[in-house]
Amino acid sequence: MFESLQEKLSRAFKTLSGKGRITESNIKEAVKQIKLSLLEADVNYKVVKEFIKSVQEKALGEEVLKSFTPDQQFIKIVRDELIKVLGEKKVGLNLSGSPAKIMLVGLQGSGKTTTSAKLALMLKKEGKHPLLVAADVYRPAAVDQLIQLGKQIEVPVYTGDRKDPLKIVQEALDEAVKNVHDVIIFDTAGRLHVDEKMMEEVRRIAEIVKPDEILMVIDAMTGQDAVNSAKKFNDELELTGFVVTKIDGDARGGVILSVRHVTGKPVKFVGISEKMDGLEYFYPDRIAGRILGMGDVLSLIDKLQASVDQEKAKKLEEKFAKNKFDLEDFLEQLREIKKLGSIGEILEMIPGAPKNVDFSAGEKSLKQTEAIISSMTREERRNPKIINYSRKQRIARGSGTSVTEVNKVLRSYDQMKQMMKKLNKAPKFMKKFKGFP
Ligand code: GDP
Repeated sequence: MFESLQEKLSRAFKTLSGKGRITESNIKEAVKQIKLSLLEADVNYKVVKEFIKSVQEKALGEEVLKSFTPDQQFIKIVRDELIKVLGEKKVGLNLSGSPAKIMLVGLQGSGKTTTSAKLALMLKKEGKHPLLVAADVYRPAAVDQLIQLGKQIEVPVYTGDRKDPLKIVQEALDEAVKNVHDVIIFDTAGRLHVDEKMMEEVRRIAEIVKPDEILMVIDAMTGQDAVNSAKKFNDELELTGFVVTKIDGDARGGVILSVRHVTGKPVKFVGISEKMDGLEYFYPDRIAGRILGMGDVLSLIDKLQASVDQEKAKKLEEKFAKNKFDLEDFLEQLREIKKLGSIGEILEMIPGAPKNVDFSAGEKSLKQTEAIISSMTREERRNPKIINYSRKQRIARGSGTSVTEVNKVLRSYDQMKQMMKKLNKAPKFMKKFKGFP
C-alpha cells in the first residue's frame, strides 16, 4: 500500500527543490499535485479539501527556518498534517471492564473473524486470558472458522447453540465469569451491505453485552465504500474505533486517511497479513513516515532496541577496549545482526536506502562466515593463532567451504583487530566517534 501515493508526493516535493523560499506562487504547483495524489489514492474529498487548506495556511504562515530548505520545510508541514489527519497518537484499547468486553462489527468479508482471533492472540501475549465468542451464525462456516483459529492460537471459543446470537452472547458472559476470563471478544454477524436487520441485531447484542469497545473492522481494499459504511455504523452504534485490514494488499490508502476524519473515531489496529500475528497497533507517525517514503525508521529503532541486549553490549565494549574481542564474540555479533531480519528487510526501513537490490550475495556471505566460525573449536575461536593449515582444511570441510574462504574470514577478523588497536590508542575525544556499541 501507499507506493503510488508515495511516488506522486515525492514528485510534488521536487517542484520545490532549489527554490529560495516558500511563496504562494511556488507552492501552487506542489499543492495542486498533492491534492491530485490524495484524490487518486481514494481519500475522501472533504478530507482532501481541509488537508490542502491547512497545508497552505501553515506553509505561508510559517517563519522561514534557516536550517531547512523550502522543500524540507514543506515536507515537514505535510507530514505534520498527515499525522493530524491520521489521529496524532496511538490509541490503545479500553480494557477496564471486568471482564473487558470487545465487540467486533463490520461487513461480511472485511476480516472480522480473522481479526477476532488475531486480537485474542495479541492480548494473550500481553498476559490476558481471552474468550472468543462465535456470534456470527449467518455466514456459513464462520463458527467453524473461529473454532479452527481458536485451536491454532490455543484460545477457547464459545459457540452455544450456533443459532441464536442473543442467547449465545448472554451465555458467553456467564461462561467468562465462571472460567475467569478477563477479556471477551465477540465476533458478530456481518452482511454484504449495511441493512436494518443486521443493525438491529448488533444493537441488541450491544445492549446485552455493554461492551467496553465496539470496533468496526473495515477492508482497506474496498476504498470509499468502506468509509461510507463506517459512517453508517458509527451513526447507529457507539463505535470506539476501527481496525483497517488488508493494508498489505495493493489498496491505495484512502481508507486509512479518511475514516477518522469522517467519523471522529480512531483507527486502533491495522491488519497486515492473513496470519495470526498479522495485527498491529496503529501508529499515525509511522504511517505518515511510510506515506512520505521516509521509511519506517521508528520501527527499526524499536527493533534495534528490543534486540540489543544492554548487558551484552557493555561487555563487548569492555572487550574492545582491552583488545580481547575474539572469534566467539564475532560469531555472537553476527547472530545479533541476523535477529534484525534480512539485509533487505533492514534497508527497507531506512530512508533513502537502495530498494529492490538483490542482497542474496551479502546474505550468503554472512551465512558462510557464520558456518565457518561455527565449525571451529572453542579453543580456536578464543585463540585464532593456533589455526594452522590442517585445522583450516578441517574447518573448510565442516562448513562446506574452502580454505580460501576460511582465510578470508580470518583476515577480516585480523583487520578488525588492527582497527580496534588503532582506535584504542586514539585520543579519548575521537573514541566517541568510533561507532561501536
Ligand atoms: P469476515 O467475513 O469479516 O469474518 O471475514 P474473514 O475473517 O473470514 O476474512 C475474509 C478474508 O480476508 C479471509 O481470507 C482472511 O484471511 C482475509 N484477511 C483478513 N484480514 C487480512 C489482512 O489483514 N490481510 C490479508 N492479506 N488478508 C486478510
